[in-house]
Amino acid sequence: MYGPGDVRVEERDEPRIVEATDAIIRLSASCVCGSDLWPYRGIEDLEWPAPMGHEYVGIVEEVGSEVTTIKPGQFVIGSFWASDNTCEICRAGYQSACINRVPMGALGAQAELLRVPLADGTLVATPDLPADDLVPSLLAASDVLGTGWFGAVAAEAGPGKTVAVAGDGAVGLLAVLAAKQRGAERIIAMSRHEPRQKLAREYGATDIVEARGDDGVAAVKELTGGLGAHSVVEAVGTQESMMQAIRSTRPGGHVGFVGVGHGVEVPGMELFWSLVHLHGGPAPVRRFLPELVELIWNRQIDPGKVFDLELPLDQVAAGYRAMDEREAIKVLLRP
Ligand SMILES: [Zn+2]
Repeated sequence: MYGPGDVRVEERDEPRIVEATDAIIRLSASCVCGSDLWPYRGIEDLEWPAPMGHEYVGIVEEVGSEVTTIKPGQFVIGSFWASDNTCEICRAGYQSACINRVPMGALGAQAELLRVPLADGTLVATPDLPADDLVPSLLAASDVLGTGWFGAVAAEAGPGKTVAVAGDGAVGLLAVLAAKQRGAERIIAMSRHEPRQKLAREYGATDIVEARGDDGVAAVKELTGGLGAHSVVEAVGTQESMMQAIRSTRPGGHVGFVGVGHGVEVPGMELFWSLVHLHGGPAPVRRFLPELVELIWNRQIDPGKVFDLELPLDQVAAGYRAMDEREAIKVLLRP
């Protein structure tokens, strides 16, 4: 990306092993993330030109001399933070805050080849080479599924719970799937877009709320006997969405916030009186990857349905445009 709205495809030097713990993978698929739209829309500044992309699946080409578990020829998935998976923070399940973490976005996964630092800690291999129709779902696990899953976990979605999800992007839709998998009794998807409502229902939503802001809060309360939901996933990152999430949660309930916050300020006094739990941040996707890969491999979940547009990598600019204009939920790129 050369600046807001300016995405180009160009030849760069092939990535090579830099650290002995690196792997080089040849990407089978990559994609455009909702968070890539922040710089695209000029809301977040990068150092231009910036390599883009942090979601990836592919086949290992080469590994450094200290890599022991990942082997050339394996099909692998990793998260948007490379992590050692051995430090105290990783072992507690917060690999996205690993003390040795490396942001994959800076390396640029919207590409043919990618260097993955800390390969043993970061990458999870599938049992075998996947069938082609599993690739989109495995790619979804790299970020949007893992992030939606963390949102549902942070919101403590589970049996007997009513879960509301604010945000109908790929992460919000997959938070619906996660809540369903975790046994939630009732799932309220907040969306005003018909195709997204349909997918939300396929993924397990029992109710759809079209209203936003205070009207959206009132609608969730109406569906929950005036109490609010037990669990609310916030998957947008705006002030309106965050406050809607907090206000839709009943006292004692949990908000899992996974939308990257831009200009969000939570009033302390309102938070004090709300009696809700807040937990969120950049999802520790690596914690969930083994479980998610298994669910996908056994065809128990189909998160790849969030990709409603597939383009060759050299048309990536059209992919950004389609997501920016909300013509596509999520764009899959084939290098
Ligand atoms: Zn770590």
